[in-house]
Amino acid sequence: MISVSKALSIISEVLYTPKTKTVLLKDTNGLRLSKNIPTPIHMPPFRQSAMDGYALLLHDKNTYQIIGEVKAGDADDYSLLPGQGVRIFTGARVPDNANTIVIQEKVIRSENTITINEEIHQNQNIRATGEQIKKGDIALEKGTKISPAGIGFLAGLGITDLEVFVPPSAAIITTGNELIAPGQKLQEGKIYESNSVQLQAVLEQFQIKEINKYIVQDEYESTKETIRQAIKNNDLVLISGGISVGDYDFVKEALSELGTEELFYKIKQKPGKPLFFGKNKETFIFALPGNPASSLTCFYIYVIPVIQKIMGDSASAGLKRTLKSLTKDFIKKGDRAQFLKAKVSNETVEILEGQSSAMLHSYAVANALVFIPENISKVDKDSLVETILLPD
Ligand code: AMP
Ligand code: MG
Repeated sequence: MISVSKALSIISEVLYTPKTKTVLLKDTNGLRLSKNIPTPIHMPPFRQSAMDGYALLLHDKNTYQIIGEVKAGDADDYSLLPGQGVRIFTGARVPDNANTIVIQEKVIRSENTITINEEIHQNQNIRATGEQIKKGDIALEKGTKISPAGIGFLAGLGITDLEVFVPPSAAIITTGNELIAPGQKLQEGKIYESNSVQLQAVLEQFQIKEINKYIVQDEYESTKETIRQAIKNNDLVLISGGISVGDYDFVKEALSELGTEELFYKIKQKPGKPLFFGKNKETFIFALPGNPASSLTCFYIYVIPVIQKIMGDSASAGLKRTLKSLTKDFIKKGDRAQFLKAKVSNETVEILEGQSSAMLHSYAVANALVFIPENISKVDKDSLVETILLPD
């Protein structure tokens, strides 16, 4: 049995060759760039008016003759003499020799003459060519996570597709004779299966769309064959249940029989003691405990850094951690580290009732996990505790 920190350091050191592909810009939200993106054009591409008003070539009087008009989208240029100007609108091309723009609210117009009653200066309200970014500069760097603003920014540069790190394809294998799919009639001794939908939902939160689901009974041969298939066809395999020490837990034996390299098995933690992590060829495998809360907690703590690694997040540091002040005293029994379902509000965190690894009720309203290290047995109210924020 290893410590939580040892398990996390094994994950952070595991090697992986990322896969990349070219994706339409509109489909890149949440993905990371696998190379630097050079800017193909100046932005803005020409001198642009930032306001509705008049583009002028300044002189020493406060009246100007207006000799034309440039709307957004027009290509016209005007050669102005000092004291001349054109009507202009936001986003329009500024005449090459205009040296300022005065906003229309500061102007009195009569026929083709304007009078300005305020002091004006050169270069007001003009967006210079390449002011935001110049052609050839790096628009966004390798590793940047694409956001809606990033998509907008790159679209504004005329970019239509991007090379990104490919999200892993993921298998979810559910084991357990007692499991019945929701929607079917519940029978004596059976329970509704919930881990696979839960894992699917959390995988989808991390942009993973290629999810293949498998169901096996607690039987050695079919467990082994299903795991073999899943390894062959997926980058990441998540197995639910059957990894403990019961007589009908066949996952561990099947994994080793298939030549899986064991990176760790069993962590000194609650919940999730029997967690297994391994690699078979290029596929990462997690065998998650069947208890629903354990399964999800192990995903949040250990699977996410692996997904981050595959998806090009070089830090792959897992979920965000912060310190929050505890609302009540907490006594920890036993010598295992604990991850506790919790609720953060502002600067405080409350450890919720119902911490059993079988219970999801409290998890369904939690927004955080409180981490209590193995060597701590009591935490006082108002002390700061390490708090792991769950993804929105
Ligand atoms: P196991 O890890 O297979 O020993 O399962 C531990 C506990 O989790 C048992 O009470 C199982 O019935 C329950 N369990 C296992 N798999 C699932 C699942 N997919 N959905 C809901 N409960 C499960
Ligand atoms: Mg089982």
